[in-house]
Amino acid sequence: MSTRSSPDENLSPLSAPVIDALHRPMHDLRISLLDQCNFRCPYCMPEAEFHAEYEFLRKQERLSYDEIVRVAASASALGVSKIRLTGGEPLLDKNICDLVERIAALPRIDDLALTTNGMLLAPIAEKLARAGLHRVTVSLDSLDKEIFRTMSGGRGDLNAVLAGIEAAVAAGLGPIKINVVVQRGVNDSGVLDLLDHFRGTGIIVRLIEFMDVGNRNGWRLSQVIPSRELLAQIQKRWPLRAVGKNYPGEVARRYEYVDGAGEIGFISSVTAPFCGDCSRARLSADGKMYTCLFASQGTDLREPLRSGADDEELQQILTSIWLQRADRYSELRRPDIAEHHILRKVEMYRIGG
Ligand code: SAM
Ligand code: SF4
Ligand code: SF4
Repeated sequence: MSTRSSPDENLSPLSAPVIDALHRPMHDLRISLLDQCNFRCPYCMPEAEFHAEYEFLRKQERLSYDEIVRVAASASALGVSKIRLTGGEPLLDKNICDLVERIAALPRIDDLALTTNGMLLAPIAEKLARAGLHRVTVSLDSLDKEIFRTMSGGRGDLNAVLAGIEAAVAAGLGPIKINVVVQRGVNDSGVLDLLDHFRGTGIIVRLIEFMDVGNRNGWRLSQVIPSRELLAQIQKRWPLRAVGKNYPGEVARRYEYVDGAGEIGFISSVTAPFCGDCSRARLSADGKMYTCLFASQGTDLREPLRSGADDEELQQILTSIWLQRADRYSELRRPDIAEHHILRKVEMYRIGG
């Protein structure tokens, strides 16, 4: 094995873009900075499972910034131009602006985004923008204080999240998107209020079908509201028209209000899967590369990173992971199997959304 190269983010040359077994390029990289979170959303990290004794990754088990930047640089050499920082809750990492600055400086990264629950966003939004972050997505499931609190596992403060969104607007971290996981009988009655609140602001609300990620969230098909049902409800209040994709592999199906009040999106992983052009790779906080949100296992990059793999070797590892990729879980999903959690799947808080 050759000597480990320095993590000089500006030196990785562009290799040929890598294409998976189903002809999909590696275009996006989602990096989970840590597995901890200040919320306990029942659909992601239910409190009963993620209690005070739960053992999260220790610092030395998580990738360092040098290691993350090396993976990001190698991925960019293979065709990744879009990076999203996520978690767990990425803003629990107090030094995140240093990492943002380093990733923003990588060649060919033209879209650097962050997904956050927004609780800690207000005080740091401006600094994130100055460090080079392009935009944020904030998760917000309800404007009803009580429902919001329940959906954050009793930990969220709605006003703090709304202040975070305002600060992101002021810092120019747009286009800002709001992720709403819609669960039947939980927050579906407040969807129109949420849309009303953000109509005309330039902020794009995206309604996400409750997904069977991981094995701990008690997913039931009966709690999934198909996007077409929501679309029909919304259309009765505000006529919408479909708009095309911004780029191949875009997750959300986009609509705009006919009256010009802006755009909304639907992420319909359960009822209208979009595996055909899925170009997302995911790096967990402990350095495993996953090629699907529903994967049961990932490939360890931490060991080669820590035992001296150089950039070329790192690129070879990423290339071989991607060449073998044939994931299309959502297209093959069997709800009866998913409800019984027979398949082991990685948890969402480990690899981000
Ligand atoms: N903590 C940050 C947040 O909540 O924005 C980032 C990580 S979180 C895992 C990323 C996204 O995944 C969030 O928008 C969240 O709503 C979404 N998510 C988590 N569990 C989900 C589920 N079971 N179905 C659909 N979306 C889910
Ligand atoms: Fe935390 Fe985000 Fe999961 Fe909620 S969805 S528990 S905020 S990681
Ligand atoms: Fe991509 Fe896997 Fe989701 Fe399909 S199920 S869109 S392959 S992450």
